[in-house]
Amino acid sequence: MIHAADRQQVTVRVPGKVNLELVVGPLRPDGYHELVTVFQAVGVHDRVRVEPASTWSVRAGGPYGGQVPADRSNLAAKAAHLLAQYAPDFLDQGAAVEVGPVAISIDKHIPVAAGMAGGSADAAAALVGCAELWKLTMQREDLESVGARIGADVPFMLHGGTAVGSGRGDDISPVLARGEAHWVLWVSRGEGLSAAEVYAEFDRLHESAAPAAPELSTGLAAALRTMDTAAMGRLLRNDLAPAALSLQPHLQEVIDTGLDLGAQGATISGSGPTVAFLVGSQADALDLSMGLAARGPEGEIVRVTGPVPGAHVIDASGPGVGPRRGGLS
Ligand code: ATP
Repeated sequence: MIHAADRQQVTVRVPGKVNLELVVGPLRPDGYHELVTVFQAVGVHDRVRVEPASTWSVRAGGPYGGQVPADRSNLAAKAAHLLAQYAPDFLDQGAAVEVGPVAISIDKHIPVAAGMAGGSADAAAALVGCAELWKLTMQREDLESVGARIGADVPFMLHGGTAVGSGRGDDISPVLARGEAHWVLWVSRGEGLSAAEVYAEFDRLHESAAPAAPELSTGLAAALRTMDTAAMGRLLRNDLAPAALSLQPHLQEVIDTGLDLGAQGATISGSGPTVAFLVGSQADALDLSMGLAARGPEGEIVRVTGPVPGAHVIDASGPGVGPRRGGLS
């Protein structure tokens, strides 16, 4: 058994995401919309550290740490608790590790309630961290199915890269994406948007005619294969955008300003209000971010690239393992 004196800790790095395409279909009997989406994990990262403790706890620091709950409603805490329930089925008998309470520390850099799946990212990170800490014999698919019980975006945050999500967005299949995409994100400094509120507005806007069964565009898959950013820019699509714009009409001015400044495409990420601009190069990203800062509506401007890996261990130290870097298989 691991004792308090033998403390070990695991640190996991996890990215945020943008949606290149988000096609929303009809409501399912379980209350979720059927959807297909193309996710891309992008380089804005939270770090989540888990370590054995005498009681469960969660705390968050960093630029957005003050905006997330520091109790069991935190999605990282929910994920760790849920994994502890599954853990007995996946114990490594040789490891003799005790599954028990953990202290979770989040270094929060992914904007909150911004459509970038920051809460799901932290849940994914907590799953990877606790699976490593408890030496669970889980495959990535096992973790994805536990993650899907926390939230529809959690499986993608485990997977990372560029991938299609179908069903509730939680059924993940990889997409071939060659090269690197440059994004400029406009992040609201005002009110965020909750996904529930945006879907409710989507339903209101579709009261008279239910949406059709969702289908991915074949053009986007072809553009991703060659990283043809001009074509990708034209094909960006988000069916939640009209609902997000109805709730926050000023986002249209952000989109128009970025396109006017030369972005190859613009989209609201997920349920918003983050606006993601696709550009052709790092130099274009710098130009656009300076233009937006000078001309655009008040907001934080962040340059990122994608795709990047999903939740992965960056440090694990303690008895038996020693300091090391690596990830779950
Ligand atoms: P969603 O599409 O689920 O609304 P989002 O990316 O727009 O996701 P998140 O940053 O995930 O927004 O936050 C959604 C809500 O989840 C917020 O109200 C926040 O208080 C809550 N939350 C719980 N735990 C976390 C966490 N670890 N990080 C961020 N938000 C969290």
